[in-house]
Amino acid sequence: MREVVQAELLFEGESPPELPRPTQIGQAAVEYAKTADILTKATGFMDAYDYTLNPYSGCSYGCTYCYAAFFSRSPEKRDTWGYWVRVKENAIERLRKKHPAGSLNGKLIYMSSVTDPYQPIERKVKITKELLEVLSSDHKPHLVVQTRSPDIVRDANLYREIVENGGKVQINMTVTTDDEEIRRQFEPYCPGNSRRLDAIGTMSDQGFQTCVTMTPLIWLNDAEVFAEQLVDTGVKRFICQPFHFNRGKFVAKTREGAFRLMAEKLACGLPEFRGKYLKRYEEWRRTLEKHMSPDSGLTLGKGKDGFRPPF
Ligand code: SF4
Repeated sequence: MREVVQAELLFEGESPPELPRPTQIGQAAVEYAKTADILTKATGFMDAYDYTLNPYSGCSYGCTYCYAAFFSRSPEKRDTWGYWVRVKENAIERLRKKHPAGSLNGKLIYMSSVTDPYQPIERKVKITKELLEVLSSDHKPHLVVQTRSPDIVRDANLYREIVENGGKVQINMTVTTDDEEIRRQFEPYCPGNSRRLDAIGTMSDQGFQTCVTMTPLIWLNDAEVFAEQLVDTGVKRFICQPFHFNRGKFVAKTREGAFRLMAEKLACGLPEFRGKYLKRYEEWRRTLEKHMSPDSGLTLGKGKDGFRPPF
């Protein structure tokens, strides 16, 4: 139900005819701001890349474990993570101006590190799409795209152009559980799991290099069935890592509900569930490893190593 509401864009007053400027999308307020440069030199976890590319600040998907919230500029923005998104309205002009044609040939770009490039606002303002149009026509980038949205399928033709023009593309889809109740608790405004798996399967069928990132792997009801579903998508690369309890934007309210649900699933109290979860995670991982062995042409990476550039 929330996904339906989220897709509805609300407008304030009259919109300019050439560019609709929604001010609200689902639960999130939409802001517009200029940026100095749309590409940021990659550091920290992403330091093996040349640049990160974030078409938006903030993220209306509002995952309760999102570490990106901590990169927010103010405590207020951090505390209201998931309830705002800022459109970098001059992104295309900045990309053209700061990075002339050919200057990004062979450059490793990760899109996106602190937002989702295909969150619902993208359907309306199409910043990600226009950035891809410039990248595909003017450059030969080595691009990794990270999303939780099936909307990525819309831009398959642009990714194909990048590859045909001499660039490289890997499409990463995040799936964190096989349980929709858990998914709604931790990722309340994200598309459901089956839609994400369908989308990454579609991109695999179209010949793209693809990867499923279980980062974090929160919960599995049936690891065997889940592993078979993943392999059936045609994806060859997988990354998984456990839930980090000390990271994320959790405020007391969301943490209590989410953790209680996990504790119920593990049939234990809140004080013990962390240790029990980590034990269960190791069991899930062993099952995934069994289905994703290098012998069958599949890889299962983990942590920072898993996120190293795949080209
Ligand atoms: S989709 Fe990514 S950036 Fe957006 S809230 Fe979830 S984890 Fe954070």
